[in-house]
Amino acid sequence: MAGNWKMFKMPAETTAFFEKFRPLAEKSGHCEIVICPPFTSLRAAVEAAQGSAIRVGAQNIAWAKEGAFTGEISGPMIAAAGATHAIIGHSERRQYFGETDETVLKRTQAALEFGIAPIVCVGERLDERESGNTEAVLVRQFQHGIAGLTESQFAKIAIAYEPVWAIGTGKTATPEIAADAHRAIRAQVKERFGAEAAGAIRILYGGSVKPDNTRTLMAQPEIDGVLVGGASLDPVSFASIVNF
Ligand code: PEP
Repeated sequence: MAGNWKMFKMPAETTAFFEKFRPLAEKSGHCEIVICPPFTSLRAAVEAAQGSAIRVGAQNIAWAKEGAFTGEISGPMIAAAGATHAIIGHSERRQYFGETDETVLKRTQAALEFGIAPIVCVGERLDERESGNTEAVLVRQFQHGIAGLTESQFAKIAIAYEPVWAIGTGKTATPEIAADAHRAIRAQVKERFGAEAAGAIRILYGGSVKPDNTRTLMAQPEIDGVLVGGASLDPVSFASIVNF
């Protein structure tokens, strides 16, 4: 269960979140929890999560270790802050910051090189869904992106299916729509990496996940977890999601 805070929460707000969230989430031994604050609040999150099973992740990661890449943050920098995960290829990065399937692959390879666990996002836009191209988009994103990993690299990633039309819009994909997309992604995984990898890969659903729709989404065997934006900002709401 992963929370993406996007560009919200200062360090002090991060600490306050964890004070409320930790006792509420302690019961949720059934799942792994990762919270992804902005870079500037990573350290506060790591300190506040210390002694718990909650992990902290970044929302992006550079494809190089260091160098002339103004505005980028590298894997070793993220690891030095104590974070263990990184979201890669979020649709907001693809839409507003020129992220492509190719750069998603490079960032994923770099994350793995520096011991950061990638959560790689894929998903179609509304026009792509309405024109019947959902599966073609997922196949393209897979084949031009993470299909370029080796088998052992692929074993260390999670995928998040995030239909762009469902992110921050209040329009959740129905559990059946989400499960169909997950099946299409898993079929790609099977074709490229084999049946074992297809069974083992964790595919999270993201897009307007809320406390009141988590249980029906998670009831789909295809859905292994959720990536939550808006509803992860409030400790009570995110705790009720992880405790679904
Ligand atoms: C996200 O940012 O990854 C996301 C799914 O956002 P929301 O839950 O707000 O739709």
